[in-house]
Amino acid sequence: MLVCPSCRSFKYARELEAAALRARQLTAAGQLQAARDQWLAALRLLPPGSAQHRGIQREIDKLNRRLSPSPNSWTKRLGPLGVLLAALAKFKTAAFLLLAKAKFLISILAFIGVYWSLFGWWFAVGLTGSVLLHEMGHYLMVRRFGFNAQLPMFLPGFGAYVKWNGANVDPGIRAQISLAGPLFGFFSGLMAYGIFLSTHQTVWLAVAQFAGWINLLNLIPAFIFDGASAMYALGKQARWAVLLVSVALGLVLREYVFLFVGLGAAYRIWKRDFPAEPKEGIAYYFIALIVANGFLSWYCLNQARLLFPHRGF
Ligand SMILES: [Zn+2]
Repeated sequence: MLVCPSCRSFKYARELEAAALRARQLTAAGQLQAARDQWLAALRLLPPGSAQHRGIQREIDKLNRRLSPSPNSWTKRLGPLGVLLAALAKFKTAAFLLLAKAKFLISILAFIGVYWSLFGWWFAVGLTGSVLLHEMGHYLMVRRFGFNAQLPMFLPGFGAYVKWNGANVDPGIRAQISLAGPLFGFFSGLMAYGIFLSTHQTVWLAVAQFAGWINLLNLIPAFIFDGASAMYALGKQARWAVLLVSVALGLVLREYVFLFVGLGAAYRIWKRDFPAEPKEGIAYYFIALIVANGFLSWYCLNQARLLFPHRGF
């Protein structure tokens, strides 16, 4: 009996999570055989036919392919035709890779286009670059932990996302992947501010302000924002710290996004979805990102107020 009748969840959820994590770490370290053994052990804990069972079978198939890369015997048997087929197969992979890249490029161009028509060329380029850096933060961290990830996809006029399979991932690792976006986003804002200092073009001040603001917004611990998944690694005390820091900064700097971050933290304290082992380091990281992005946004807005005293913002 692999499914517990009382809670209707898999009995070995914890063991499975641990085995999946070890398997991914081993894959990342290039120890494919040991990784396959881990998956095989996990497979035995699951009822055949379940989605999880199929998912793990796919991981094993993937490793099997990597462990014994395409036996060339069939190309030999088929003679020249085989060589042609092999060449075609290679072309297909190349074409497929190109298509995946094309999807990324087309989506990013459409994204620039929308903001170009709204705010002009340089703001569109700066904004898209900032969003791209934010997404690359997620992408690089997903890859660092040994998971598969697709290049970011841009949704013109809305945002962007990196697709990856995060089921059964440790809350600490998931939080690091989520917070890498606002971290890289903050650096993109610093870079934009650096360009502003060296060129004196105010559009870069606007890009820097936007980067701080949008990355602070992304730290709201609710809905689909990055803060929502990062919050799973924080215990009750750390959530209270996020709440108090956000509300204090919101009141002092008069930036309402802080208050929404605080509101989200209050909701998550009330929801009580605390982790088994809270990660204190992640709590400091989370709060540092709130302060850094919020301060960047506030600072750039004040610079803009000094530059344009009669605009009324
Ligand atoms: Zn993000």
